[in-house]
Amino acid sequence: LKLAKRTRRVECYRPAALQDAHRRFLVETELRHDLGSGALHLALQPLIDLGSNRICGFEALARWQHWRLGAVSPVEFIAVAEDSGLIAALDSQMMDCALATLAAWDERAGRTLDVGVAINLSAVELTNEDVSERVADALRRHGIQGQRLTVELTESAILADPAKAAEVLDRIKATGARIAMDDFGTGYSNLALLRRLPIDILKIDRSLIGDMPTDPDKAAIVRAILSLAQALGLRVTAEGVETAETARLLAILGCNVGQGYHFARPLEGDAAYEFALARGA
Ligand code: C2E
Ligand code: MG
Ligand code: MG
Ligand code: MG
Repeated sequence: LKLAKRTRRVECYRPAALQDAHRRFLVETELRHDLGSGALHLALQPLIDLGSNRICGFEALARWQHWRLGAVSPVEFIAVAEDSGLIAALDSQMMDCALATLAAWDERAGRTLDVGVAINLSAVELTNEDVSERVADALRRHGIQGQRLTVELTESAILADPAKAAEVLDRIKATGARIAMDDFGTGYSNLALLRRLPIDILKIDRSLIGDMPTDPDKAAIVRAILSLAQALGLRVTAEGVETAETARLLAILGCNVGQGYHFARPLEGDAAYEFALARGA
């Protein structure tokens, strides 16, 4: 009994770094195994036009339900996928799923629904020559018009090699898809890049949006981003809209689209389709 107790103590004091390494290894192994299976699936979070209050699309967010680990956060498994070379396969699977979902909805409704889908592409992919070919191929296979697809990228992706990024983005845009800069306002927010790259949408990070009604500094930054976007002819989406007050403020300031728990959480299965129909798709 004493021995067992001591063993447990030792467990408690296992260095954190070792525990981290063990967890990463576990997540990588299990992710590799679950890729391509139904354990990895999508949640779709509504994007709401703040002018008309109608739905204009969804953001596709990866979800992973592991039989033993439970629901693993995308923040954790996306980072592991990026470090282990699994991200291209994962992102492709999610893009495929998202476009297949749109096609199935159109079929079910008997018409082309007035909604698009936004997918996340990892930073790592911008060095990948064939990423635009994968986008074009997925659109073709599912018979979805490029205009209904938005590709979200984070700034860090683009900053790593702007010339290369511009080339890859131009090719993605040639499919008709739009490009959104995700989590805008958290990194360097390099303004010169915004002019150099074929970007259509700025997505303001939720760290600026959440506190906007109560934090005058954040409200000022959001206003500055909105006037910058207007000057450059870009559309703006705000993420992390959690209250009616925030939604109202953003609409007054001229922000185009809102996303957040105030409108809807990421939805799975039929709930997303029903939400779309109920909100004017
Ligand atoms: P993101 O692209 O910025 O996605 C928005 C995140 O904010 C999502 O977290 C969403 O669930 C969360 N969110 C939405 N509305 C609210 C709100 O009102 N309040 C709060 N507190 N949070 C809100 P999630 O699903 O955990 O995803 C985290 C990140 O993981 C995403 O951030 C994205 O960078 C990445 N990710 C998710 N799916 C994929 C994927 O298929 N491929 C890649 N490469 N990255 C993905
Ligand atoms: Mg995103
Ligand atoms: Mg985002
Ligand atoms: Mg974000």
